[in-house]
Amino acid sequence: MISFIDQDLYQIYEKIQTNTRLDFEDGLKLFKTPDLLGLGKLAHLAKEKLHGSKVYYVFNRHVNYSNVCINLCKFCAFGRPPGHKEAYELSIEEILQKLEESPGKIREIHVVGGLHPSLPYDYYLELLKAIKRKFPEAQIKAFTCVEIDHLAKISGKSIREVLLDLKEAGLSCLPGGGAEVFSERIRKKLCPEKITGRRWLEIARQAHELGIPSNATMLYGHLETQEERLEHLLALRELQDQTGGFLCFIPLPFLPQKSYLRGEIAPTTGFEDLRMIAVSRLMLDNIPHIKAYWVFMGIKLAQVALHFGADDLHGTVLEEKISEFSGAEENRALSRQEIERLIREAGFKPVERDALYQEISIS
Ligand code: SF4
Repeated sequence: MISFIDQDLYQIYEKIQTNTRLDFEDGLKLFKTPDLLGLGKLAHLAKEKLHGSKVYYVFNRHVNYSNVCINLCKFCAFGRPPGHKEAYELSIEEILQKLEESPGKIREIHVVGGLHPSLPYDYYLELLKAIKRKFPEAQIKAFTCVEIDHLAKISGKSIREVLLDLKEAGLSCLPGGGAEVFSERIRKKLCPEKITGRRWLEIARQAHELGIPSNATMLYGHLETQEERLEHLLALRELQDQTGGFLCFIPLPFLPQKSYLRGEIAPTTGFEDLRMIAVSRLMLDNIPHIKAYWVFMGIKLAQVALHFGADDLHGTVLEEKISEFSGAEENRALSRQEIERLIREAGFKPVERDALYQEISIS
């Protein structure tokens, strides 16, 4: 018999048992409850209904083609203005060379970068084509909705035309970054140059309608309120009801250490990170996967998050520059054996997947 310290959680348990959708008020109760373990039990129940004892991971590699960015969002430690001494951009040949150095069979190649003012539109198409030629079995997960908007601007094409060009060049899905928090209040303060939340959702919608699924993220732990977090989750849930195109939701804890906001905002705590994973699982009843992104959360906490509703431990991750610039503690790659051990020791069954969450093997 399941038991809770917080009596309010019994009503939510009833709803989960009867597959009744949770509303905004339920979400607030989940964000406010002091009963973290009770919240974890609820989220674990919801996770088990969807995936049983399976936990997914992917053998992947990250490519951050350039950190040059014209937006310079306040929370970002990765972007550099053009001409900055730490600014870089990789040629297609350099990227292929790095990918060729990867051990093992890569299933997913994750490509994102800053909004570069002068890289031509063809660079992006040729990059995808070259990767696809060299690694035909790997799926390419590339470009946030913010980058897609940038590509539309530099090419003079519509979002639809850009997405179709990228799909033809080898794009499988979008990684889901750039969503931050959809609240206009927050975007005005932290990333005024970035596309609005509404535009982000519209680009995701168009991608889904063209058969390009995506993930979705939320950067939390800065200036946003619990209400704004919930509004973000509910906007994603609403779009998912219409398109069914979201594969996975990824809550990203803000890492202030090297951002413009260092000293002003404290990093998130383990309690907050676990709560965010659990609330996401419970509110996003129509998005199949919730990711514990160990690169930002830390490996040990991400492993614990598998008992708080997460069913995906991301991947082996070679060469990820965004976390390196942000000062993340876990700036390294994991081997297939290490990631499987983390999952098994937490009591779950590791399942290797591809970028589209198709199962490759169960160990
Ligand atoms: S978050 Fe993205 S758009 Fe904003 S500065 Fe960083 S790279 Fe540029």
